[in-house]
Amino acid sequence: MSELSKPAVVILLGPPGAGKGTQARILEEQFGLVQLSTGDLLRAAVAAGTDAGQKAKAVMESGGLVSDEIVLEIINDRMRAADVAQGVILDGFPRTKGQAEALDAMLAEAGQEITAAISLEVDDAAMVARVSGRYTCGMCGEGYHDSFKQPAVAGVCDKCGGTNFKRRADDNADTVAARLAAYHADTAPLIGHFDRAGVLRRVDAMQDIGPVTAQLISVMDGAIG
Ligand code: ADP
Ligand code: ADP
Ligand code: ZN
Repeated sequence: MSELSKPAVVILLGPPGAGKGTQARILEEQFGLVQLSTGDLLRAAVAAGTDAGQKAKAVMESGGLVSDEIVLEIINDRMRAADVAQGVILDGFPRTKGQAEALDAMLAEAGQEITAAISLEVDDAAMVARVSGRYTCGMCGEGYHDSFKQPAVAGVCDKCGGTNFKRRADDNADTVAARLAAYHADTAPLIGHFDRAGVLRRVDAMQDIGPVTAQLISVMDGAIG
């Protein structure tokens, strides 16, 4: 089998507010990949009131990490869907050592491998500012920010023309501290895991959205070939 026939598996790693979702949506269009956000999948499960959603709700509101069991069940289901065959951008997964090992096993079984694990590096202060000003279009999910990314016409989504916007319940000062602590305790150690596996790439995510996209495109061009 040729290398080209393997679907790309790109991981975006980074603390809350690093820009994973913003960049994943751009890269998805640019490279024809499918963004899989465990945060979005979990919020959909909460909204639908499924068993997994009911268990995850309080944990997400407190800023903790949802159990590996629930996250793996959700991601396993999603990765089996037909539309991901061309390749995926994993946004916010894996977030623990257990999830990283489960992903390695899942890919090995499917004869796939990680194309690149890209760490979006931002400092803690920037992350708090990004999360506290974040809002999204209620219709298409496009992300915006009170200071850093406003729609061209105030109150109207650039992408779909929608006029309904929403803010996440967990984007508040109390929860942000817990989410940052969870990132440092459980997720940051994965940087070493991916480095040892030879797939780690680091991107300076302190820059504006455009320059960060440019760095990512160059990393992806190198990794996907
Ligand atoms: P994540 O998915 O990593 O939590 P988001 O992509 O939702 O992060 O970005 C968090 C907030 O910061 C959003 O409001 C987004 O518009 C804004 N943002 C994303 N990248 C940048 C950047 N490079 N500079 C400034 N603001 C950014
Ligand atoms: P952000 O990157 O901005 O923190 P996400 O939308 O990725 O936000 O995640 C929101 C919340 O969903 C997390 O704080 C956590 O409670 C839960 N979550 C998302 N992905 C995972 C995961 N892979 N493992 C455990 N919990 C997760
Ligand atoms: Zn929209």
